[in-house]
Amino acid sequence: MSIFRLAIPSPLRAQFDYLPPADLTPEELSRVKPGCRVRVPFGRREVTGYVLAIEEKTEVPANKIRAALQILDDFPLMSTQMIEICLWAANYYHHPIGEVMASAFPATLRSGKAHKPLGAPGWRLSTQGKGLPEGALARSPKQAQALAALQKTAQIDTVTLTGEGISSTVMRSLLTKDLVEQCTLKPPTRKVKSHSGLTLNTEQSIAVTAIQATLGGFHCHLLEGVTGSGKTEVYLQLIARALEQNMQILVLIPEIGLTPQTSRRFEERFQANIINLHSGLSEGERYKGWEAARDGSAHIVIGTRSSVFAPLDKLGLIIVDEEHDSSYKQQDGFRYSARDIAVKRAQQAQCPVLLGSATPSLESIYNVQLGRYHHHLLAQRAGGAQLPKVATIDIRKQALTAGFSAALLDAVADTLNRGKQVLLFLNRRGFAPTLQCHDCGWLAECRNCDARLTVHRRQGILRCHHCTASVKMPGACPDCHGRALLTSGLGTQQADEFLRAHFPGVPLHRVDSDSMRAKDAMSNLVTQMQNADPCILLGTQMLTKGHHFPGVNLVAIIDADAALFSTDFRGEERMAQLLTQVAGRAGREGEPGKVLLQTHYPDHPTLQSILTKTYADHARSILADRLALGMPPASSMALIRTDAKDAATGELFLERLREQSAANLPASTRLIGPLPAPMQRRAGLFRSQLLLMANSRQDAQLAARTLVTSADKLPARGLKWTIDIDPLDGM
Ligand code: ADP
Ligand code: ZN
Ligand code: ZN
Repeated sequence: MSIFRLAIPSPLRAQFDYLPPADLTPEELSRVKPGCRVRVPFGRREVTGYVLAIEEKTEVPANKIRAALQILDDFPLMSTQMIEICLWAANYYHHPIGEVMASAFPATLRSGKAHKPLGAPGWRLSTQGKGLPEGALARSPKQAQALAALQKTAQIDTVTLTGEGISSTVMRSLLTKDLVEQCTLKPPTRKVKSHSGLTLNTEQSIAVTAIQATLGGFHCHLLEGVTGSGKTEVYLQLIARALEQNMQILVLIPEIGLTPQTSRRFEERFQANIINLHSGLSEGERYKGWEAARDGSAHIVIGTRSSVFAPLDKLGLIIVDEEHDSSYKQQDGFRYSARDIAVKRAQQAQCPVLLGSATPSLESIYNVQLGRYHHHLLAQRAGGAQLPKVATIDIRKQALTAGFSAALLDAVADTLNRGKQVLLFLNRRGFAPTLQCHDCGWLAECRNCDARLTVHRRQGILRCHHCTASVKMPGACPDCHGRALLTSGLGTQQADEFLRAHFPGVPLHRVDSDSMRAKDAMSNLVTQMQNADPCILLGTQMLTKGHHFPGVNLVAIIDADAALFSTDFRGEERMAQLLTQVAGRAGREGEPGKVLLQTHYPDHPTLQSILTKTYADHARSILADRLALGMPPASSMALIRTDAKDAATGELFLERLREQSAANLPASTRLIGPLPAPMQRRAGLFRSQLLLMANSRQDAQLAARTLVTSADKLPARGLKWTIDIDPLDGM
């Protein structure tokens, strides 16, 4: 008796057994393979499950196990290799396999719709139709004509048939006679060609030669290249080699805004089928991209985080651009790291994975030190451009207008006068404008979170950036009824208004998640900026992600202090990455650029390091400190978090979890907490956490498994708990 082992999307960390549908013939059963979808009853619902395995059992307790309703696919849509990756990820991140598998499929297939191959609808002869002699069906000339046409070419698309005067009614009649069948005509395969690239400089050339030599085997490479050093050219030339060997290439990028820019560079270089996969696409577009990856017609897939699950069976090279970027870590639900899964996929596909960044993560630098990753350095900017000069502006006791010192405004004016572009960076975090009463000190706070509301003056509202609650801007203080309400801090909107007034006639482009929401906003801006007319770019974190703005000459960080006093142990690493990346937008072509940092703490050691050392040196000294303290990447972490209606419920749960599991944990592990999460109250719920630290990944895995098993058994009334492996925040 055959039993299907299924992955079913549900919060339960389990696999589920089902009998085949009652009416399934042995021949149909023999076609069911791991990777096929089936419809099954689940509780009171009907859901899509994914076959993980088919097991033969001599005895099945028929009353205990339900039968599947329908087999949805007559061949597997997911390869056994991809199933293995999903099983690995489910196991490593302690997430239900059903949800992991589901996340690897596009929505239409998840919902149980039929799998449709790409291509135009068409017709071909059936076995019976092929047996007909020429000149058959003489009594219906149209049908005879259709048959003759099909006898000449194996298959014809519907458009051509209509063009020859053969209607769909004619084809339907042939279909009822079993003489023809419907089919899909594959689009003609494009001949892949690469246009020749730039002449590589010595550093690039050494990197390409070394990495290219590892095609066909599993190797991890870190490409550490300063901003503007031509990492993309290295990617392109390696991709050309992989394409020659008939392989598929996966390119991960941190942000949707970068896809048009990146794709354009790829389209210019390669005559090949280049697919984008990201959350900004419509369902239909996503399905097409996914299917092109699966059926092998896609040569290059460029995508954000989730495309690390793209079904590519001829994977020959994986590139993770800006590998340090925190957007590769999913921060809710299935909390995976796309960078780490990319390495796993490369291992399984036996191909190289290339992690590229101007500011590599300490994890990757550590892996280089341990000899696990090959290291390639691009220390010079390509094309002769020089790295920018960095200087601070000490703003202590200086009069500031809307956050700008006179010195900074002079530098901006000077740059614009020289016909250059200016980029002003505002670190939104901890810098958002809040509303305060000048009479009594009242602060506008969110009623759901431990957070202040942010002023959105143009819309006349106060908004919480943690739970999105919003209220109308009050006319007077709710406590003392005073009318002197001050906006403290500086937001992009306020800076925007000030700059427009101060530099009339100078175009100002704002780059933040509000202004860049429209689908093509970022790519339009990038195009606009290429004309190199003087203008001001004002933006947040979004500006740090690898954009190439050749006309930008001055970069200023309006408040460098905002990032200096983070309590998170990764704070200094993030600060160094952020400042280096922002600075890296300056002077990428032509004249050397300039970077100015406004600060109250010009002597702060972190700022001093940034001024006097390269990121490469600075990062290695931060890493040495971390290793000395036994912090990641020297150790591994996991976080168990609870969300509960009150603080005590969560802490009690974590306390009991700790008591029950502490004795069973590996010796190298320790638990810290329960403690309130860094932002304890969020969206009306209280958050607590228990931190697990271990000396090795293996021990962290064992300990996490023990904790999850215990937590699954504990009563969890009034709370929700989650586990985050290798968390990026939480300390
Ligand atoms: P990165 O990704 O490292 O920040 P890019 O790949 O965007 O850098 O390259 C920066 C600029 O240098 C681009 O304008 C690119 O065309 C140019 N460039 C890259 N490699 C070379 C080369 N070998 N010769 C001349 N120009 C180059
Ligand atoms: Zn809130
Ligand atoms: Zn007041």
